[in-house]
Amino acid sequence: MNLIYKIEELVDSKNQNLFNEIKSKTNIELINEEGDSWTSKLYNEKATIGIKKSEYPIACFTHELLHIKYELLGMKCPFFVDEENIGAEMIGHLYNEFCHHRFYKEFIELGFEPEQFLNDYDKKQFKQTLSEDIPKLEKVFKKNKNIPLKGLMVALPYLMYLSPNQVGLSKPKKIERLENISSKDFIRDLESLIIEVTNSNTYDLSKYFAKFFKLCNKPKIGFSLEKNHSTLVVAGNV
Ligand SMILES: [Zn+2]
Repeated sequence: MNLIYKIEELVDSKNQNLFNEIKSKTNIELINEEGDSWTSKLYNEKATIGIKKSEYPIACFTHELLHIKYELLGMKCPFFVDEENIGAEMIGHLYNEFCHHRFYKEFIELGFEPEQFLNDYDKKQFKQTLSEDIPKLEKVFKKNKNIPLKGLMVALPYLMYLSPNQVGLSKPKKIERLENISSKDFIRDLESLIIEVTNSNTYDLSKYFAKFFKLCNKPKIGFSLEKNHSTLVVAGNV
């Protein structure tokens, strides 16, 4: 297979130590990613990183190395018992967001720029989601007699905005529009939860998943790092 980038093109003085650290613990295999975005997974002691053409491949590669680093330290997406029909895709998405908050600081400390934290595609996706979702939510708001919105419909676009690389950037107009139709308390609670995740030092994120779904009024979903759910943290009970 002809790789888009050779490993030498993805390692520089900024990420060399991180790369060495990961390589000393696991094999790293590069593949040309067929999906839209850079990916990484750790399976059977082997890390696979899916690479895409990028304006800043070294930063994208480093982002994926950080995902792998945290998985090697014991971070993983919790198992779940889902009586709210949330689905694995949404849980996986949330896990990804939580991980980003955990390792963003490290990315910056390595010397990378905030605007290179997310890959080219994910940044485009954020703008597109806002363009599509906000007008729809404004219609829902009007239809519901201007009662402030909350729950997953607000949390999902707002979480994209809370992505750690947004810190210090001016607030997009569409986010202001979202805030105008959303419950102030809900947004404040969501922001506090993200701060809690950022400052946490556990690799078991079950509690934060449970808190998130409690906030979104989805109490009948529980999370556990154990496959047999021996330590299930239920949203309705946190
Ligand atoms: Zn990521």
